[in-house]
Amino acid sequence: MSYEKEESIAIQACLQAAKLTERVRSKIPKAIEKIDNSPVTLADFGSQALICYHIHSAFPDDPIVAEENPKELLKPERAGDLKQIVDYVKEDNKDVDEKKLIEWIGYGNGRVSERFWTLDPIDGTKGFIRQDQYAIALALIVDGDVKVGVMACPAYGNDGGLLFYAVRGKGSYTQSITSYDTTIPTRIHIVANNDQNTFRFTESVESCHGDQTKQNEIAKRIGIQTPPIRMDSQVKYGLVANGEAVLYFRFPNPHRQDYRENIWDHAAGTIIVEEAGGKVTDMDGKPLNFRDNEKMLHNRGVIVSNGIIHDQVLEVLKS
Ligand code: AMP
Ligand code: MG
Repeated sequence: MSYEKEESIAIQACLQAAKLTERVRSKIPKAIEKIDNSPVTLADFGSQALICYHIHSAFPDDPIVAEENPKELLKPERAGDLKQIVDYVKEDNKDVDEKKLIEWIGYGNGRVSERFWTLDPIDGTKGFIRQDQYAIALALIVDGDVKVGVMACPAYGNDGGLLFYAVRGKGSYTQSITSYDTTIPTRIHIVANNDQNTFRFTESVESCHGDQTKQNEIAKRIGIQTPPIRMDSQVKYGLVANGEAVLYFRFPNPHRQDYRENIWDHAAGTIIVEEAGGKVTDMDGKPLNFRDNEKMLHNRGVIVSNGIIHDQVLEVLKS
């Protein structure tokens, strides 16, 4: 299958969502606390509504497994927020009203199945609130394999943001977000690299989302002498795919050994790195499991590499 329609709809949906998230970001987004104490903003809901609307309209039979749940917005104290999200979404889709907004966000509460989409409407919400990096990450999974991945990174670079996308077997591409219609895509290939400026690794800004002590120790043993690039969201996969880093480490946090990674935090990034020639596994060298559950229940940590040094990293980890 060529997945041309899926690729095109996914790109357009993410570009539209990026316009909305950037409008919200320019006004210093307000954070709402979710039940698990993690933050969410009006832009997370707006982005999920727009993307789910597009995917559902084009592929009504495909379930979408997305991060946000519209229930939060049905609480009486959220009435003002709900209205504000409708206003934001209206700038891109005039048909929206409160009922439709809840319905569209709810399309994202589907189940993992043989063919489904997974979406993080704003990956790196903490970064988004800090006016830092974030990604809108959407992927199509068929029989457990990521077939299409799109990552819009509106705060990346100095040129209005960068879009990364990949289709299985067809390579990874980048393109400017703000001049998408007037530019041609650039294919990205990872090449062997001994340059100390880019022989670097990347990890999360949030120390509780990994094990920075161990990540830095392993990086040193691989021969990385420069400090890590700390960045929010799946943009880190982009850094490996485009050669700015050779590794992205995400080891389990010692105080949260029970934490299991969400598929929407990794699916789009994974295909983008793999199609650029890199490799993604867990710390035991197993592929990430996007087949069974919205949590990767049997994977421990995530290692993303340029492919060339992947086995060496696994060996060092074993010892
Ligand atoms: P990052 O921007 O790389 O720090 O990743 C953001 C993602 O980290 C969020 O979307 C959360 O789903 C996820 N997250 C939350 N808690 C943890 C944790 N204890 N370990 C790893 N990831 C986490
Ligand atoms: Mg996320």
